[in-house]
Amino acid sequence: MIGFLLAAVVYTANQGSAIQLKLPDEPHLKAVHVIWREKTVPAFHAGAAWTTILGVDLDTTPGEHPAEALLTMDDGHVERREILIKVVAKTFPTTPLKVEERFVELGKADLERSRRESKETEAIYGRITTDLVPEERFIVPIPGVAGRNFGERRIFNGQPRAPHAGADLHAASGTPVHATNRGRVVLAKNLFFTGNTVILDHGLGIYSIYAHLSRIDARSGEIVKNGQIIGLVGATGRVTAPHLHWAMRVQGARVDPFSLVGAAP
Ligand SMILES: [Zn+2]
Repeated sequence: MIGFLLAAVVYTANQGSAIQLKLPDEPHLKAVHVIWREKTVPAFHAGAAWTTILGVDLDTTPGEHPAEALLTMDDGHVERREILIKVVAKTFPTTPLKVEERFVELGKADLERSRRESKETEAIYGRITTDLVPEERFIVPIPGVAGRNFGERRIFNGQPRAPHAGADLHAASGTPVHATNRGRVVLAKNLFFTGNTVILDHGLGIYSIYAHLSRIDARSGEIVKNGQIIGLVGATGRVTAPHLHWAMRVQGARVDPFSLVGAAP
């Protein structure tokens, strides 16, 4: 018998990157959701396509990973389309760093604080909201400044620690930091490791994180515009010199924030 096979749509992505999916519109299509790594990510209608952004964590095993698009039609029935995401290995360098000892051998109070804060931020990254979705392009928070060392394996004072989940943008203390896109402020306070920190929710499970600020210019709950100043570069938290640590989480995945720059659904 002649089967009717729909070939899977294949996307290729580096470990630690965001990918923008574009699925063709079809007649009677009412809603699209993508299932990726046990998360349900809504897509939205833009022009002749349905689009969304998925995150590939920096520790994802290289190789082919299946995803699936669920197409809800006008009459309520759901059709499935196969998607394959080919994850390509990336090598990340190992870097020794020297910081104040209290950031490596944590005292009891600091250890409890950092665990509590990590629980709080991970809970934020686990949420997928849809009331605000990115309609404009993601921008670099300090225009013209290149980011460094995303994914680097780090040895602090001789002890291995978690890989560097963001990019460091070097700039003088007091340099304005701009929101990478429109978003809702979901955290704006001092944290143990990241110092004065702002987290923005851009919808679809996309969060941007700005760390080590000398000053926070954003209030929790407010909606900031793309490019709005949300704080100033500083050296608060675990740092060796003033810089902006800029990170993006996409459905929880740690991705190079620069992989989102220019993405515009
Ligand atoms: Zn950093």
